[in-house]
Amino acid sequence: MGAQPKRKISKGRRNRRRAQDALDTPPMSKCPKCGKVKRPHFECAFCGHYGEVKNSAKAAAGKSDSDSQKKINAK
Ligand SMILES: [Zn+2]
Repeated sequence: MGAQPKRKISKGRRNRRRAQDALDTPPMSKCPKCGKVKRPHFECAFCGHYGEVKNSAKAAAGKSDSDSQKKINAK
């Protein structure tokens, strides 16, 4: 016989332990580009956008970190 618990865990103690077990919904924010719901600090699942919206120079520049990251993840 292996190791056994020394005492029965009371209902109150068991329930207090399980009070922490439920999963809650992750925090959600809006994509600044397409407006859909996304998780903060994650790239948008719909348009792949990450970071804040910049001016029209964003598409022409193509050398910012968020743009290169988008290309990698856009497969
Ligand atoms: Zn988006």
